[in-house]
Amino acid sequence: MENFTTARVQAEDLLRRYVRAEKVKNGGRSLNAESFYPVKLRAIARFLGWRMEVTDGIEGYEGAGFNVIGRVSTVADEKTIRVSSRTPSTEQNFTIAHEIAHAVLHARDSDCQYRFRNARQRLSGEKRRREAEADAFASALLMPEKAVRAKFKRLFGAEAIFHRSSRLNGFGLGRHSAGDRSLADVAKSLASHGNSDGVSLAKFFGVSPAAMAIRLMELELLY
Ligand SMILES: [Zn+2]
Repeated sequence: MENFTTARVQAEDLLRRYVRAEKVKNGGRSLNAESFYPVKLRAIARFLGWRMEVTDGIEGYEGAGFNVIGRVSTVADEKTIRVSSRTPSTEQNFTIAHEIAHAVLHARDSDCQYRFRNARQRLSGEKRRREAEADAFASALLMPEKAVRAKFKRLFGAEAIFHRSSRLNGFGLGRHSAGDRSLADVAKSLASHGNSDGVSLAKFFGVSPAAMAIRLMELELLY
């Protein structure tokens, strides 16, 4: 499977450019590191010159039975990212990041790029590849590697943890965690495990536990 390294690098590069521009705007003052996450997607979309619209209906593809939850229209006079209000805020975040990816990576390929909730396997090969690429970009934009590694270490006291390690028993996974749960299952538990303030990794980065869990496995923080 492709790992979309270029897309991930471009996402982190976009984040750096945004931070630099904000710093200039603030007269040289850096953004507050503590309140930086969840990544301010709407501000980033604006920074790129895109309008954001939260709407309860997104046209296109309905006839084919696709559930469209995001759309970016790249027609020159309508630089707008639309996201469905009918999904939870974490999913909206991921969708906005996914559409920003299309805006950055695929603007020349087609006038409209979508995010679907279902039926992705029915897309043609190239469309499906672009969807996976946009997800990789979105994941890196919302959960930058360096920040995730730092937060993971602060929360769990280790650079990385084996999913059957007994050291996980202290993190609310129950006493069965050390042996009989799958990697994906443990990753999801860790993603939603809160510290003393109740802030989990998923909450901190503004993503669903499922998206956070995938990122933890991708970066092999949990292996
Ligand atoms: Zn898409």
